[in-house]
Amino acid sequence: MKNLHKEFIRLGRERNQITYKLLALLPKINNLKIYEQEGYANIYDYAAKIAGLGSGVVTKVLKIKEKLQDMPHLQKAIETQGINKVGIVAGLATKENERALAEKVEHMSKPALQEYSKEVRGKITTSWQVELDGQMMFMFLKLKKKLGKNLSNKECLRKILEKMQKKSGSQGGPRRPPLRRGRQAQKRPQTADEKLKAQRQAEKPAKIPEEKITRYIHVHLKRKLSDHCSHPGCHRPTEIIHHTDRFSQYHNHENLKPLCKQHHEFAHNGISEPIHLADHKYREYRQKALQHSYSEI
Ligand SMILES: [Zn+2]
Ligand SMILES: [Zn+2]
Repeated sequence: MKNLHKEFIRLGRERNQITYKLLALLPKINNLKIYEQEGYANIYDYAAKIAGLGSGVVTKVLKIKEKLQDMPHLQKAIETQGINKVGIVAGLATKENERALAEKVEHMSKPALQEYSKEVRGKITTSWQVELDGQMMFMFLKLKKKLGKNLSNKECLRKILEKMQKKSGSQGGPRRPPLRRGRQAQKRPQTADEKLKAQRQAEKPAKIPEEKITRYIHVHLKRKLSDHCSHPGCHRPTEIIHHTDRFSQYHNHENLKPLCKQHHEFAHNGISEPIHLADHKYREYRQKALQHSYSEI
């Protein structure tokens, strides 16, 4: 059964790769009006009958390709990463930044790219509106009655969430402040010599067990960190504990940062932190992992 699933993933990925290539050819075919010479009514008819491509995606590729004139790296990314991922950043592209953007398209996931694009355009959402269906309204109003007083809907929902959080046993108390960077920054190796020393220390063979530092982060260290992503303006819960000093380079657990998945990708792609040597390895690892999972079209 597992093999069937793996085979399905592999073929799905292959099909996506072919779709990207087909889409990348369409703008030229459209400009040269090849579809006309071949007897098709229009480019949509051509794309649908020959390759089963829907009109939505055809419109999208024609529009985006037009926008990306003189931007060879992003154009190439349509072929390798797909039109949807390129489409997320197309609005931000200039001749100067297109190369860096193409790199982000290659190495970041779709949700992280969306978050990045929002941040650059200053469109980070700080509040949410959620629509309730009939059954949810009923449950909400019932709880509201129980909570009594003259609470507004918003206050009532806040109370419900607070109660739920306390019940779930997660840190329900006041939010812990993010890491105190100042004090910890002093602990960081400052000079190249010190860095080398720290690295050697960590790389020593594991003869003396207490000296060996593994990637495992002890639970007492984790507890000290906030359960709120530490990226400015983000309201998602922590999903990943990130090593500001890349662990594979520095082998310590000193400058840990709680982050959501998207902002963790920011950190490793030169957006919220400068690119480290270890980030290239991180990217390689991610690309390898992608080979074994669904790819996004
Ligand atoms: Zn990290
Ligand atoms: Zn975040």
